[in-house]
Amino acid sequence: MQKQLTATCNNLIDKLRKEEKLTYEEYLFLIKNKDLCKEYLYKNSRQVCDSIYGKKIYIRGLIEFTNYCKNDCLYCGIRRSNKNADRYRLTKEQIIDCADQGYELGFRTFVLQGGEDLFFTDEILEEILKEIKSRHPDCAITLSIGERSFESYKKLKQAGADRYLLRHETATKSHYEKLHPEEMSFDNRVNCLHELKELGYQVGAGFMVGSPYQTEENLAAELLFLKELQPHMVGIGPFVPHKDTPFKDKLQGTVDMTLFMLGLIRLTLPHVLLPATTALGTIDPLGREKGINAGANVLMPNLSPTNVRKKYMLYDNKICTGDEAAQCIECLKQRVSKTGCEIVVDRGDYKN
Ligand code: SAH
Repeated sequence: MQKQLTATCNNLIDKLRKEEKLTYEEYLFLIKNKDLCKEYLYKNSRQVCDSIYGKKIYIRGLIEFTNYCKNDCLYCGIRRSNKNADRYRLTKEQIIDCADQGYELGFRTFVLQGGEDLFFTDEILEEILKEIKSRHPDCAITLSIGERSFESYKKLKQAGADRYLLRHETATKSHYEKLHPEEMSFDNRVNCLHELKELGYQVGAGFMVGSPYQTEENLAAELLFLKELQPHMVGIGPFVPHKDTPFKDKLQGTVDMTLFMLGLIRLTLPHVLLPATTALGTIDPLGREKGINAGANVLMPNLSPTNVRKKYMLYDNKICTGDEAAQCIECLKQRVSKTGCEIVVDRGDYKN
């Protein structure tokens, strides 16, 4: 019986590798039987990654420039209702300084991430983007600052932003509504992703694995959603509870399911840029290495000044909050080399 099930799963994985998509029922079948076929999946997903990107691992320098947020996502440690969050904003000079230091360390992509902080108007962001671009014209800049208007996305693009990371968080509207307060809208979030694509950004979507109320059916739906959206990047990581949120007592996502989803995403969107996230490294000391072995090809180490790192706590026990950027990169180089891959100095653009 088990042998037969394994054979069916492996056939589906072969089919996915060949056709780059499955039906909802087929994805669900694999997810339900992941323990029977995960090793076979990872073998295939790593091979597919190698065939497109080789053994190269791209790094993105993450600059967490503000933890003020007007939103109140139920899972997030920097939600506006969290009165225990120690709020900070980096100055323009501090942000530029992070990028300069990152450049010296070999970063060619910077990700400016933050809460939805109204202090950072288009004008201020445009100034920052232009300054980084003029100092480092060979670098790509990614913004990850949530939902804004089409006009704002357009201005920021013109000022030098190349990419935008906006996780949709879940592809199922009813599930989205369980993770967010009423004033937030699934349709608006997805619409933002379409607008970003229309404006010519390289777009990153993504979701949390094991977020509260998520079902295996929801996970199967993620793959259909991603196939349709065709993002350039997909950021996924396990949900990890934060002690000062309504989800403090919820279970965290698992390493196993996160890796399995990474593998399925790699086969569904072979060219996609796929990070092994810090959240994955937080719930398993070897999480990021395992992510690479399952088909991930991006790491996003922290370039934020060490004195603010602990304040950008989206979830409990976040790793790498004490080290200098230079230490982080050394540590990651060692880790990556154990997977047979290698960190490169490269913008790491999407390969068609
Ligand atoms: N404000 C920006 C950036 C959000 S923080 C935006 O709206 O896109 C980046 C990501 O961290 C989120 O998209 C979410 O998926 C993830 N995140 C937040 N809280 C988390 C938690 N408790 N566990 C795991 N991931 C979390």
